Amino acid sequence: MKKNVIQYPNMLKVYTTLLRKKESFKPRKGRKVNLFVCGPTVYDYSHIGHARTYIIFDVIVKYLEEKGYDVFYLQNITDIDDKIINRAAERKTTPEKLARDFEKEYLKDMKSLKVDSVDKYARATEHIKEIISQVGRLLKRGFAYEIEDGIYYDISKFKDYGKLSKRTVLQAEDSISRIDESKSKKNKGDFCLWKFSKPEEPSWPSPWGKGRPGWHIEDTAITEKYFGSQYDIHGGAKDLIFPHHEAEIAQMEAVSGKKPLVKYWLHTGFLTVRGRKMAKSLGNFITIREFLEKDSVRLLRLLMAKAHYRSPIDYSEEAVAQCRKELARIDEFADKIKSVRTSKQKEKTEPDVAQYEERFEKAMEDDFNTPKALAVVFDLLNKGNALIAGDDLSYAGAKNILNFLKKLDRIFGFISKEKTKEIIPEEIIVLLKEREKYRKEKNWQKADEAREEIEKKGFRIEDTKEGVKIKKS
Ligand SMILES: [Zn+2]
Repeated sequence: MKKNVIQYPNMLKVYTTLLRKKESFKPRKGRKVNLFVCGPTVYDYSHIGHARTYIIFDVIVKYLEEKGYDVFYLQNITDIDDKIINRAAERKTTPEKLARDFEKEYLKDMKSLKVDSVDKYARATEHIKEIISQVGRLLKRGFAYEIEDGIYYDISKFKDYGKLSKRTVLQAEDSISRIDESKSKKNKGDFCLWKFSKPEEPSWPSPWGKGRPGWHIEDTAITEKYFGSQYDIHGGAKDLIFPHHEAEIAQMEAVSGKKPLVKYWLHTGFLTVRGRKMAKSLGNFITIREFLEKDSVRLLRLLMAKAHYRSPIDYSEEAVAQCRKELARIDEFADKIKSVRTSKQKEKTEPDVAQYEERFEKAMEDDFNTPKALAVVFDLLNKGNALIAGDDLSYAGAKNILNFLKKLDRIFGFISKEKTKEIIPEEIIVLLKEREKYRKEKNWQKADEAREEIEKKGFRIEDTKEGVKIKKS
């Protein structure tokens, strides 16, 4: 990817959940940015709410890279979890097989979404050694204790507990929702670090007996391995702030004695479908692949970029129709601008594209304000359209606009049309071959008949210098 010189090095401000305000973005080490985003628990297909987080962080990484930052983007794969074990039992398969299958599906989805900025996917089960080491250090430092079903974190021992979610130890009671309902815990909000396995469950040996990791510990074990005990950005959906991200801080800062674990906590807003939370029971649950059967990835990426990443998005037919219109506008403009030619007869106008780029960047530098940035892009489209309509856009101006659009496409991935391969049916290919044969035999009448047959079926033949081309008519 082409990297630009940073024009406004200290302008970028990002909102961090920890401080509840925007802060100047200054990575810990020069231009190196270590970024971690919570990956999927691989027990089912991902939905468009997940897609929102993954698309937005893809845009953020690509923007930072355009600005000359050197980003290392790490994601975990939760491939051992109660949800996986339960689903595998329902499906009469092994947890390992189920997890591998859905990991494959997840990666396929990311490929179709053009999310290609992740440098490393780290499976929990491949970091058991690191996980055991962290649990061991937490026990040694007195932040953890053992009871009948596992090793638990004692949240009352960590004085900063609750600083991310603004909860107290007492308010942490509802954190028992995912996995940890043991009655002999010291505090209701204590969470499991290492769970002793039941006989039929997957397990790994540890100094405390056979078991498997709790959910929160895998993230800090993985980030410690690749980034050390502190790093730049942690991302994820808003609903992970508590208890998940709060637990990560409690674990890593207790282990290392260093704070903060993460300099900037970025959380994405919720996605609702027709005004309601997505739920299979409401019939408004849309997986990524269901969406892509009906609409394009361009449309989804535009839809996500049209809202600020922290704001809610409501997915509806109207919102999709609006995106379709906007994509059509972009396509129409791109076609027109490519046909702008130099002219010797006429002095044409060269719009100040740099000024639009500057406005675009200012919007992005304000906590990645993509809706404001896209408004600037549409302003430029209007300006360009008006000039083209009066045959007044200079060739140099058109080139500058096109270069800007290319940069936008590298960041957002919805500007250029997908090159759709036309699928030519087998019967047309057979007819085409017959026609070729007749032509070689100089049987012009038969060759024409074959051509007519092809045309009747909705295709058209072009005889070019490079050979015969066939297109849908
Ligand atoms: Zn996580």
